[in-house]
Amino acid sequence: MGFVYLLHFSDEIGNLENPKGSAQHYLGYTSRSLKKRFEEHKNGIGAKITRAVVQDYKYELQLVRHWSDSTRKTEQKFKRRHSPVSFCPICNPQKNITNINCKQQKSTKVKNVKLSASVVGEKPI
Ligand SMILES: [Zn+2]
Repeated sequence: MGFVYLLHFSDEIGNLENPKGSAQHYLGYTSRSLKKRFEEHKNGIGAKITRAVVQDYKYELQLVRHWSDSTRKTEQKFKRRHSPVSFCPICNPQKNITNINCKQQKSTKVKNVKLSASVVGEKPI
């Protein structure tokens, strides 16, 4: 078990994996310490795209969300089903507010729960 996590870049870069698009997020998985993994990203270790962000573009990385008790499969599901931007509280402040409400009002939580509404500590999808 580990963490699926979402990094937000301070600005958009050309997407190395999809030359047609641009990217402002990185969705990753680690079975180790999330903090250490994030430090590695900031130091340009581990992923081509985040290395380009910090070293070539000199943009900042922000760890904006993470999902505990996750596996590689969780990461793949996330990547297949959703664009990372839909999980980002910075790019989607509206959605984030909804999530916070969901967390506080447990009675309404079951209604309209989408993948993006899963929060830290919940079971992986
Ligand atoms: Zn974002």
